[in-house]
Amino acid sequence: MFKEYDVIVVGAGHAGCEAAAIASVMGAKVLLVTMNLQTIGQMSCNPAMGGIGKGQIVREIDALGGFSGIVSDKSAIQFRMLNRSKGPAMWSPRTQNDRMMFAAEWRKTLEFQPNIDFWQDTVKELLIEGNVVTGVKTSMGMEIRSKSVVLTNGTFLNGIIHIGEKKFGGGRMAEKASHGITEQLIDLGFESGRMKTGTPPRIDGRSINYELTEEQKGDVSPGKFSFSSSTKPLEYQRSCHITYTNQEVHDILKTGFEQSPMFTGRIQGLGPRYCPSIEDKINRFADKDRHQIFIEPEGWSTVEVYVNGFSTSLPENVQFNALVRIPGFEKVKMFRPGYAIEYDYFPPNQLKLTLETQSIENLYFAGQINGTTGYEEAACQGLMAGINAVLKLKDQQPFILARNEAYIGVLIDDLINKGTDEPYRMFTSRAEFRISLRQDNADMRLTEKGRNLGTITDHRYKEFKSKTQNVEHILNKLNDRVLPSQELNEYLNSIASKVSSEKLTLNKILSRPHVTLQSLINVCDISELKQYAEEELQQAETAIKYQGYEQHERDLAEKMTRLEFVTVPENFNYQQLQSLSSESREKLTKVKPRTLGQASRISGVSPADISILLVHMGR
Ligand code: FAD
Repeated sequence: MFKEYDVIVVGAGHAGCEAAAIASVMGAKVLLVTMNLQTIGQMSCNPAMGGIGKGQIVREIDALGGFSGIVSDKSAIQFRMLNRSKGPAMWSPRTQNDRMMFAAEWRKTLEFQPNIDFWQDTVKELLIEGNVVTGVKTSMGMEIRSKSVVLTNGTFLNGIIHIGEKKFGGGRMAEKASHGITEQLIDLGFESGRMKTGTPPRIDGRSINYELTEEQKGDVSPGKFSFSSSTKPLEYQRSCHITYTNQEVHDILKTGFEQSPMFTGRIQGLGPRYCPSIEDKINRFADKDRHQIFIEPEGWSTVEVYVNGFSTSLPENVQFNALVRIPGFEKVKMFRPGYAIEYDYFPPNQLKLTLETQSIENLYFAGQINGTTGYEEAACQGLMAGINAVLKLKDQQPFILARNEAYIGVLIDDLINKGTDEPYRMFTSRAEFRISLRQDNADMRLTEKGRNLGTITDHRYKEFKSKTQNVEHILNKLNDRVLPSQELNEYLNSIASKVSSEKLTLNKILSRPHVTLQSLINVCDISELKQYAEEELQQAETAIKYQGYEQHERDLAEKMTRLEFVTVPENFNYQQLQSLSSESREKLTKVKPRTLGQASRISGVSPADISILLVHMGR
């Protein structure tokens, strides 16, 4: 019934969808096996994509030819550029999405790929010969062969759902858990752990008194994720609203603490530190008398509303009694209670930087299974696993992004070299080169690489080239020297910037604080720049403003890059080097770094240890 596939992707969440799509784009014959075809591209938690650190990842996925950005744009109901009050290096795009449209867009995207076959079933075992994966076995008894397998099981592996004292198996509410894979992998020598996450209740928007809440509108001139012209910015948007908990709400929630699976120790797994449940917040921050609640619509045409900031696993009657004490929720009707879920993950230091497992060849892990949390973190791993699975089949060099090239590089490098024992989410602070890794320049950093991989279409590449040329033209024009006119000096004076009687280059003027390119276009004789798109002007302006910082980051990266070229022989015996610290010997033996650069980023490996290795390797 089944032919042999190049790649079998297990699971159609954010990681699985990206993995299947990109492998197909790269010409592989793909089978997407998932438990339920109706839940392809399901957003398990909040109906939103992007945000701080995460928005940059979506832009990078898009710049490499992945699809999360396009799917998000097509299903967006609101767009906001977060952190606009800070410098452009911190700007992070975020969309509020129509949950059902998001899933439908993913399904359409995948069905449009001629190389993807679909099969609804649960994988319960991997077929393995020697130390090579050769396919999967499903609960319907199918044995399906493939050259590689990408596991993206999300929160489903031995998932247990908790609401108060109730506890039952499930991968998400109303969906079965997946059994068998963890047990087999443990038998094969893999280490596994438990993590947990939670979600808030959903309520009926018709029961909310919005007059008692603050409106939060989308941007006046909304942007979008995708660099391609295949999506357009929103013409209409839906607003979110903000309300707050209060002492009374906290007191009611506390009445449920004795039945809380978290506080009574029934949940063993660690939860996301930066996305705590409401009970965790009132427990940890006892001095805070209120917490912010974002009221987020679930779509264009549904009345269901997501109560962001109120994630909880307390008994459902406690959830309800607390909700009705929140301003605006006095007559609230609950659609679904919040819940917590515990699931298996595999510490990611058992993987290579390609996301292939170290011990089983051609087996890749991507997404929540690696201990991450979040759609964007999962999607980018799916993309990288899909790309690398295909490259390996084609006998080509692996595709690895460095920390100074992309947030995706930071994420994977952190996972492999530092591991994680709590759900890992991206933050801008994790990136040491964050001035260079901006959302606006993700295409400049990555699209050429995507083109080399074969993931960027001709049409897309033409658009990219035209934008690159336009930005270059703008930058060239800004090299012009001008004699400050009276108008220019008046402008400089108005922003408390030094006036000048000598010729200056436009980019020198632009690099001053508070000077904007739009204002320069208005006061200098450079109206020819008006022909360029706002995005192109913005990109040129940011490049000039950050020139110095970017150079500093490049110098730093260069120093670190030198270590990347010192390769460590495979199966190098660290135990023989007694001068290394014992922690270092243990970590290096476990991670098996490919290069000294990678070795230097393993937590517990000191610069002194790197010097010892350098000497040992004749450097
Ligand atoms: P998932 O999106 O979970 O997709 C897994 C896919 O694999 C599903 O399609 C499933 O059907 C399929 N599958 C599983 N096992 C098998 C099998 N054996 N055979 C075939 N198919 C299989 N993230 C945050 O950033 N913040 C949060 O607050 C947050 N809260 C969450 C709360 C809950 C209750 C849940 C469930 C998730 C939450 N998340 C949160 C996590 C977010 O949903 C995930 O990070 C993201 O969905 C992970 O994507 P993924 O592709 O790895 O897995």
